[in-house]
Amino acid sequence: MTEREAKAFFSEELLAWYRLIKRELPWRMNRDPYRVWVSEIMLQQTRVDTVIPYYNRFMNKFPTVGALAEAPETEVLKCWEGLGYYSRARNLQAGAKEVVEKYGGIVPDDKAAVAGLKGVGPYTAGAIMSIAFNRSEPAVDGNVMRVLSRYFCLEDDIAKPRTRVGIEKLAASLIPEGAAGDFNQALMELGALVCTPKSPSCLPCPVMEHCLARLEGREHELPVKTKAKKPRPELRAAVIIAGSGEHAGKMLVRRRPDTGLLAQMWELPHLLLPPEQEHLLDERAPKENAELAMLLGRMVREETGLLIRPRGWFMDADHVFSHIHWKMRFYLADLGEGLDAAAASAASMESAVAETAAAYDSGASASAAIAEGLPPDYRWIGKEDRNVLPFPNLFVRMFKQYWD
Ligand code: SF4
Repeated sequence: MTEREAKAFFSEELLAWYRLIKRELPWRMNRDPYRVWVSEIMLQQTRVDTVIPYYNRFMNKFPTVGALAEAPETEVLKCWEGLGYYSRARNLQAGAKEVVEKYGGIVPDDKAAVAGLKGVGPYTAGAIMSIAFNRSEPAVDGNVMRVLSRYFCLEDDIAKPRTRVGIEKLAASLIPEGAAGDFNQALMELGALVCTPKSPSCLPCPVMEHCLARLEGREHELPVKTKAKKPRPELRAAVIIAGSGEHAGKMLVRRRPDTGLLAQMWELPHLLLPPEQEHLLDERAPKENAELAMLLGRMVREETGLLIRPRGWFMDADHVFSHIHWKMRFYLADLGEGLDAAAASAASMESAVAETAAAYDSGASASAAIAEGLPPDYRWIGKEDRNVLPFPNLFVRMFKQYWD
């Protein structure tokens, strides 16, 4: 079989297969480019089953480009809470604002204009142009690179940009006349459901007959991909400060900075441990760690003026971002008002309590700090407030354990 015949076979069989098995998904209800755009952004690094409820909620809340452009960012982040990679939500909203300002609220049928929107890379631009406008544009992501590397037995490293460019050309040459949207979705679907990374289901695969990797028994070797670096571990210690008086039943949270990782989301006050203190969070280190509690007390005092009385360890949790792995240890603490060292529950906490008491001796006063008010990025929240402010998943898990 010539390469041309192999290509024609691939395109025809794949398209016919897709039209038979096509899943009913909420973003396939129609070809509204905004709906396609939102779905493609949500589906990046996230499974279809996870995305569906988020997508439905998001579209109910922000049904049009204009509605998304006008929404307060906190609401958008709240709707995204739990999906991770929050810069996607921010970029999506920035893109929606651009569409309103430059194109009157209508996503343009123009590849360069779509590709120029914030957060829209070559894959997303190709997906929007092909699915919404049926333009003959390739949409190449990891799934597509895997399928094509296997079918054509390509040995180039798919982690290299050069390889992606080559595969985009190949994918473009495979698109059947007038069927770009369905064909690109068929390719993605094959990669997601059949030609999966670890265990491709070759037997029911619609293109098995002429798949070179399958014919050569190399489907498990391909694609070639150099390993990404392991996410860098960051050891962090957080404190759950229980409020008292008018703040009884609440805990203290703070807002993250306006830029950078998880920008503007909310979190519990916590410390990133420098390398010389990492031993404090070593797996073998005792969880009831007075030194850590002391460091947390000092941080809270410096940032808010509040004095806290550490009570002990609550839980450990972690979260893996694309390049960082947060390992977080949570401690419980009360406000230091009415501090009574003898009441400190754990012996290992005594020195932490002593430091807090010393701070009292130096003339500081928790009630004075409360009277002066908290810094603007700090807030007391109750159980119900967690449904209003956006928190990274790690803290949502902690809230569940603490309040539910
Ligand atoms: S035959 Fe196997 S390796 Fe080839 S495309 Fe189909 S699932 Fe992938």
